[in-house]
Amino acid sequence: MNNFSYTRASSAGDAVSQVASAVAAKFLGGGTNLVDLMRENIERPDHLIDVSALPLRDIQEHADGSITIGAAARNSAVADHAAIRRRFPLLSRAIVSGASGQIRNMATVGGNLMQRTRCCYFYDQAAACNKRAPGSGCDAIGGFNRMHAILGASDHCIATHPSDMCVALAALDATVDVESPRGSRTIPSSEFHRLPGDTPHLDTQLQPDELIVSVAIPALDAARHSLYRKVRDRSSYAFGLVSVAAILHVERGTTRTARIALGGVAHKPWRAYAAEEALQDGQADDQMFRRAAEAALGGAQGLAYNAFKIELAKRLIVSTLSELARTQEAR
Ligand code: SF4
Repeated sequence: MNNFSYTRASSAGDAVSQVASAVAAKFLGGGTNLVDLMRENIERPDHLIDVSALPLRDIQEHADGSITIGAAARNSAVADHAAIRRRFPLLSRAIVSGASGQIRNMATVGGNLMQRTRCCYFYDQAAACNKRAPGSGCDAIGGFNRMHAILGASDHCIATHPSDMCVALAALDATVDVESPRGSRTIPSSEFHRLPGDTPHLDTQLQPDELIVSVAIPALDAARHSLYRKVRDRSSYAFGLVSVAAILHVERGTTRTARIALGGVAHKPWRAYAAEEALQDGQADDQMFRRAAEAALGGAQGLAYNAFKIELAKRLIVSTLSELARTQEAR
């Protein structure tokens, strides 16, 4: 780990002005990923600006059914929040599936959005990795790529995005509010994370001097009928091979609202718009769910060790939608 200086920001404005005047500064939230990356010498900031104590922890429920979550809210607080569990259960389930209680108690919402890939070659300083060292190559492409992307990958990087929470946020059409010395802006969750293209060292659209201040989830009644399911190699906490965030409202056997996002398959949470179209106003049965799953994985490409994820993702979509439909039939 390199030497670095440390300050604690007193406000969001103070944080962005501090970062603007530093050379290689990083914001520090719960530190559950950044500190690991610093220990491995993958991240080498010369200054850390601690934003974890900023008054950005509120979770506000609005009269129209939308919710705003402060960027410093702990993952455990979001997962346990009564309105989130009632209105957006997929978000609560995604967070709980993502990490142990100890990590959820430390990790912040802003930090969760900024998590970096867990590609093992990214962490291995002896390996070629375009994300860690642009232009050096990608040892995962010809290597052991069991955990890697089947959608949206490039010849430069096949890494997957690690967050579970962000998959649920993608299905919910959440937006991310950021501040910088230039003012504020709002980034749709669909645009926040990037596909690798030829610049895989860039994970997000965020500029280095921009601070995430909150996440907004728009009202969606249908989201009460939602699930997050994740397949991983062990039953204890692990990064997902494939996950599905699904919202499905069924009325008298007919699908009304459907949203699907996939995790563990791409460099960003993967919103399956083609599957959603296939689920519009039809008979909610396994045949329809399989057609939607086929549409969701339409462009998927397997590599030497990860082709199994294509069928796995399809089956996970079908079983998740079936469970949602069954639950509503039973009412
Ligand atoms: Fe690096 Fe991406 Fe290749 Fe992994 S997949 S080694 S993160 S370039």
